[in-house]
Amino acid sequence: MGDETAKFANWLRDSASTLHDNAAYLTELDSAIGDADHGSNMDRGFAAVVAVLDETSFESVDELLKKAGMTLVSKVGGASGPLYGTFFLRFGTALAGAEITPASVGEGLKAGVGGILARGKAELGDKTMYDAWAPALDAYDDAVAGGADLAGALAAAAEAAAKGRDATTPLVARKGRASYLGERSAGHQDPGATSTTLLLESAARTLA
Ligand code: ADP
Ligand code: MG
Ligand code: MG
Repeated sequence: MGDETAKFANWLRDSASTLHDNAAYLTELDSAIGDADHGSNMDRGFAAVVAVLDETSFESVDELLKKAGMTLVSKVGGASGPLYGTFFLRFGTALAGAEITPASVGEGLKAGVGGILARGKAELGDKTMYDAWAPALDAYDDAVAGGADLAGALAAAAEAAAKGRDATTPLVARKGRASYLGERSAGHQDPGATSTTLLLESAARTLA
């Protein structure tokens, strides 16, 4: 495993451990506006990704991310499995043959989020994970344009995601299970925007 591949594997392992530690919290958020399974979905999915990492030696970042995506699609039902699965699949696909640079990772993140939109059709303000991803992508690009390295750009993205996550609280959900609640979904933080922020905070810690 090359240096870059090992770093991305570390990201997935660190994400798995963070999602495990936050599983009860994510499920509590989902119990207010969903079906109380977001924490267990993410924990199960990322535990399966770690199991794959333990038994496979990956030669490249794109292979690693694509396999993580396929694992999430196959192990996690509901909305978040296909959405995060597609994110990692497209992130990996975008990095195939590319050198890992702040710019190429930015393109990969953008492609991954494009996959989330293609699947879920969310728009900004629908109270979904996209409300964390959208400002994160903008902040990432601004940081790279300002000369930031990968760690700096990811830290900016994570910080913006956290603000986007917080901003989901007053919103009325227009996508996913929470939308069934209509106005009653307001006043609760979106679980998916919360897990997205955890993934980006983990990336900022591990992909330096
Ligand atoms: P389920 O709702 O099927 O039980 P989860 O609880 O694991 O799945 O995930 C719920 C999260 O998925 C929501 O908090 C929201 O962020 C995200 N989500 C749901 N539908 C969409 C969508 N169409 N586009 C983007 N994100 C979505
Ligand atoms: Mg749920
Ligand atoms: Mg569910």
